[in-house]
Amino acid sequence: MRKNIVAGNWKMHKTNTETVALLNEIMAQLKTPNCEVIFAPTFVNLKTAVDTVKGHHITVAAQNMHQAEGGAFTGEIAANMLTDIGVNTVILGHSERRAYFHETDALLENKVNTALKHNMRVIFCFGEELKDRQNNNHFNVVEYQLRDALFALEKKDWANIVLAYEPVWAIGTGETATPEQAQEMHLFIRELIAKVYGNDVADNVSILYGGSVKPDNAKEIFSKPDVDGGLIGGASLKANDFLAIVNAF
Ligand code: PEP
Repeated sequence: MRKNIVAGNWKMHKTNTETVALLNEIMAQLKTPNCEVIFAPTFVNLKTAVDTVKGHHITVAAQNMHQAEGGAFTGEIAANMLTDIGVNTVILGHSERRAYFHETDALLENKVNTALKHNMRVIFCFGEELKDRQNNNHFNVVEYQLRDALFALEKKDWANIVLAYEPVWAIGTGETATPEQAQEMHLFIRELIAKVYGNDVADNVSILYGGSVKPDNAKEIFSKPDVDGGLIGGASLKANDFLAIVNAF
């Protein structure tokens, strides 16, 4: 059965000291949540975060990784560097990686394969831009992002895939897809996966929504049957906002 997940993507925010402070503030108030709680701090703070959350039911994830096993790639991070410090979940394909660092679906396919080879779980982000939605091309764009990056996977690989539908026009903009728009797309995605991999894979994959999820809209978005949680940017940086979103489940 698929699980509900609320994941905070801290992007390039929070120093090491601030990371510990925010985690402690959240952990002090986190009751037994009805969902998995994930934080993705920046690379240099991952080990500190792993140590800080020890003993709590919290997962620490990376925001990115390189597709190669290692080598002359200045400034990059390999999968085994993450797993070695206890980070076994990685966000791949975030729209900011696609837009500012030119990550393509072909590159992301490589990254996904490398992560899975290392038994990591992937939170795979994708979603249309505003012009795609205005041109009524959003279902097509989403379908091809998934086909190009994920549909060469074997059925068994899907046990380690979490999907995060993030319409680019709703990220960090204050614009949110309506709960109905989110549900419509999530259902489309689940039906597409069912066609390619069968109902068992489709029913078991968690599909998160991302794009300006806040305490005041989380409950309604999460109440939709095909929305299994959220990938949260801005609101994950404030303990009370993030806790309110977690408690929306
Ligand atoms: C994100 O960056 O993945 C995101 C959803 O950001 P925000 O919640 O700030 O829109």
